Amino acid sequence: MSSVTVRVPAKVNVQLSVGPLRDDGYHDLVNVFHAVSIFDEVVAKESEGLSVKVVGESAELVPLDDSNLAIQAARALAKHAGRTYGVELVITKAIPVAGGMAGGSADAAGALIACNELWGLGLPREDLMEIAADLGSDVPFSLMGGTALGTGRGEQLTPVETAGRFHWVFAVADGGLSTARVYAECDRLREATGTRVGWPQVNEALLAALKAGDARALGAELTNDLQPAALMLRRSLARTLDAGRGSGALGAIVSGSGPTCAFLVGDEEHAHDLAASLTSLGVARTAVPTYGPAVPHIA
Ligand code: ATP
Repeated sequence: MSSVTVRVPAKVNVQLSVGPLRDDGYHDLVNVFHAVSIFDEVVAKESEGLSVKVVGESAELVPLDDSNLAIQAARALAKHAGRTYGVELVITKAIPVAGGMAGGSADAAGALIACNELWGLGLPREDLMEIAADLGSDVPFSLMGGTALGTGRGEQLTPVETAGRFHWVFAVADGGLSTARVYAECDRLREATGTRVGWPQVNEALLAALKAGDARALGAELTNDLQPAALMLRRSLARTLDAGRGSGALGAIVSGSGPTCAFLVGDEEHAHDLAASLTSLGVARTAVPTYGPAVPHIA
């Protein structure tokens, strides 16, 4: 086999509850991840050394050195297999960079799946999940796709049952937001307003809506504790969210750490209409109609 192509979806957090800042600098999270059909493509080609090329949407913002998560993933997989392997990775980005949709994690997951195949390692998914957890807290979910509940720092995952398809529109903003900066702003806002938060809890009504395939109920239950911080750092997002709500979205939320905004709608037709109106209102650089859940797959 001289090349393997893997498509890996972006994610939105339909629930992101952030506990108090821990002594080790992390937060306990209750995180319901939902993978959606915006796919990065990772092609792994036979090669002597390890290298990466990135093309597509905002490719110039992605590092090509050892900080690239896909390169880190390939290296970690080779180490796990106890050998040196070469690969040329070619990533075609569609997931907005630093957009709160776990694009870097998706590329890392894609590299794990593709290199496992290219190198003929035949490692089971559990081994890849272990390597993924060391690469970053969103990487295990990117590998798994679908819909899942993450606890701890987000890396302990349980699949969540869903029915049918949910239709979404993602409003892509100009430029990204740093996840670390958004968490820091969340802590600062809580401190400044004297907000005390308890241990994050799973929203059972949200899980029931997912299980029933009830978009209206899901729309009413969407929550993101990082949203106030993202809105503080990027004031224009309030207008984007309002525009979506005004155009009949069943739910409107900042995706993860932002600045991408996610809108849940009832069907595919409404998704296309809403995408067109968000773009024409000038509240998004682009607006992408999608569906979830989606899963990574070898193309
Ligand atoms: P998070 O998963 O923390 O929510 P995000 O979705 O907001 O992150 P990413 O697109 O994953 O953002 O990018 C975060 C940063 O990771 C980027 O600014 C970029 O410098 C770096 N990065 C490293 N490797 C990649 C990659 N393969 N694709 C995109 N970004 C990468």
